Amino acid sequence: STSLLWFRRDLRLGDHPALAAAADHNHRVLGVFVADDVPLDASGSPRRAVLARTLAALAQAMDGRLLIAHGRPRSVLPRLARAVDADVVHVSADYGPYGRRRDEQVQRALQDAGVEWVATGSPYAVAPGRVRKSNGERYAVFTPFYRGWTDHGWRKPARSGSGVDWVDPGEVDGITAHDPQEYARTVPAGMSLPEVGEQAALDGWRTFRDEALDDYDGDRDRPDRPGTSHMSVYLKWGSIHPRTLLADLAGRRSTGAASYRRELAWREFYADSVFHLPESVWTSVDPVIDRMAWDSGQPAEERFEAWRAGRTGYPFIDAGMRQLLAEGWMHNRLRMATASFLIKDLHLPWQRGAEHFLEHLVDGDYASNNHGWQWVAGSGAQAAPFFRIFNPLTQGEKFDPSGDFVRRYIPELRDVPGRKVHRPWELDGGVPAGYPEPIVDHADERAEALRRWQQRG
Ligand code: FAD
Repeated sequence: STSLLWFRRDLRLGDHPALAAAADHNHRVLGVFVADDVPLDASGSPRRAVLARTLAALAQAMDGRLLIAHGRPRSVLPRLARAVDADVVHVSADYGPYGRRRDEQVQRALQDAGVEWVATGSPYAVAPGRVRKSNGERYAVFTPFYRGWTDHGWRKPARSGSGVDWVDPGEVDGITAHDPQEYARTVPAGMSLPEVGEQAALDGWRTFRDEALDDYDGDRDRPDRPGTSHMSVYLKWGSIHPRTLLADLAGRRSTGAASYRRELAWREFYADSVFHLPESVWTSVDPVIDRMAWDSGQPAEERFEAWRAGRTGYPFIDAGMRQLLAEGWMHNRLRMATASFLIKDLHLPWQRGAEHFLEHLVDGDYASNNHGWQWVAGSGAQAAPFFRIFNPLTQGEKFDPSGDFVRRYIPELRDVPGRKVHRPWELDGGVPAGYPEPIVDHADERAEALRRWQQRG
């Protein structure tokens, strides 16, 4: 008989424990991806396009033998299992709130059909929920989590899936193959997407490892330099597994390698937080933040629009917001600075910004994004306190000292030399044509944010 391998956030063939388990179980494997409208409708068009292209790359690596079906997994999978006489469905476990609910339903439907369900591995080095204090409680704070996570350890990379006898989807009766390429065509105008797929992920990782990893500790905060790995989009869809990266980091003693391992652990920490507190995706972990006064109506909505478009008049903030619109990706330093600006200079709730990011990010991930926003807001599992307010000017001057990052994304300021570009209102000729005056005064709004914080209920 046949094994069914249901691909979800594990769109690769290398280092794939569920694929190795499926191939061991039965000689023949049907690989399937189910296009499910619930998560698809909730994803912005850049993320859907990246998914479609990643599926195309996976299908190519499988010589075209990937079946893409459309519908509700709980009805599609039992039907498929029957069609190819499969006695087992293999998956990598999904720990997101929707994925867990969906998988429970699918498991019940498969049980009714007499089909076994086997979950091997997950999108994380250590499955969410696994690292706990000695009394069984979750870690609410990152540093002890990180220690526990390191002590727990992870498996070595799994065998590759090459040499698998994939079932030809053409042999499967009664299922219409779905073409996800329509999503690939709906990328917002002017946005350039990264290369996708397993090979692009491996190539990108090797280039970063060989050319930038040793300097990562110093350069990771510098958006003007190619200092970070850009692995987030690949980790999102499982084109590469963090275990592959961690295995490569092992034995490297540089501070860069140590910092990189720690950043990967943040991703795991946020997934662990969401595993224990699924509602924390949209609800503040510490509700103290919800008792503050937030702005609404006009001019708040106009300011929100200016923030989204990268037209606040603060060049560092605007360059970050325009990077998001142009590439579907934003440097971490800018994610923090622009989030702080929305929450603490414009006095808008973090959820509004989180939604905008998810709409545009190709790496958009509920755990990392929404907990990243909560970290900045001061409401998260382990947050910076609310009264830590990023200064949009000094952030720019410190982390983009020559102004190159700003000039790359803001053509109106392209002729302003050096670091002066961070304060266009101080230029002799005034703010260059076409670029806005600051929409708010940072010093005033900082004081206002602190006042509201003190007066919270
Ligand atoms: P690198 O610096 O090369 O880091 C390597 C990997 O470590 C990343 O790919 C990522 O998987 C992980 N990582 C690094 N920093 C963090 C972090 N602070 N939190 C969690 N994981 C981290 N990351 C996402 O993957 N998806 C998101 O939707 C997302 N939204 C964010 C929103 C806000 C407000 C903030 C402050 C951070 C957000 N991050 C998110 C985390 C971080 O900004 C990105 O992971 C990082 O910028 C991706 O670029 P990179 O792969 O080059 O990172």
